[in-house]
Amino acid sequence: MVGDGILKGMAETARNFFGSYVSKDRLVTLQYPEQRDPPIESARSFPFLVFDGADWQQGMRCVACQICEKECPPKCIFIEKSKDKKPDAYGKPQFFPATFNIDISVCMSCQICVEVCPFDAIKMDVVTDLSSADRFGGLLLDRQRLAKSDEYYNSIHPTEAAAVDARRAAEQARQAAKAKAAAEAKSDAEAKLAEATPAQPAIGEPQ
Ligand code: SF4
Ligand code: SF4
Repeated sequence: MVGDGILKGMAETARNFFGSYVSKDRLVTLQYPEQRDPPIESARSFPFLVFDGADWQQGMRCVACQICEKECPPKCIFIEKSKDKKPDAYGKPQFFPATFNIDISVCMSCQICVEVCPFDAIKMDVVTDLSSADRFGGLLLDRQRLAKSDEYYNSIHPTEAAAVDARRAAEQARQAAKAKAAAEAKSDAEAKLAEATPAQPAIGEPQ
């Protein structure tokens, strides 16, 4: 029948329109910003810096190697490496970014910085409502604004973050075992050297 498709389309539209008043599945309008859709795990907006523990400065994973700065296609990352090292969240002395800025008005969310980082220190956020009337100060995020905890990372990308945490834990266990083996080997070598060295007679004793 001529117009059959139009009638079917209108019926579907009417079903969705009236259904949206009674069916939760059809309530597509949220009272933003009070109400928000739950984050989608595969979504990505702009990068953030992950820190371990409670102190964002001490726990920051970034060691200011500057690989992401070099690889960022639009060059919107700016890093200044610290002059000295300080203990990280595990007590290991590390360099850290004295300055770490990302201009998110330039960032194109390509995720290349995340892929090249050898330390799992930078990840993609899912927050999108970052608009600001201050074009320069408002969209140039410094290290404090970029710093977010590993718990936050786990909350927005649970599958990916769990894999990263497992990999990091395995690497830390491997390094601890290696350090222990090296310490034991050193201690054995010192004991063998002590055994092989003849005792020196005390001063005044006949030789
Ligand atoms: S997501 Fe892409 S454009 Fe944005 S900071 Fe990372 S590398 Fe640069
Ligand atoms: S975020 Fe990663 S790649 Fe970038 S400077 Fe820090 S450790 Fe290096």
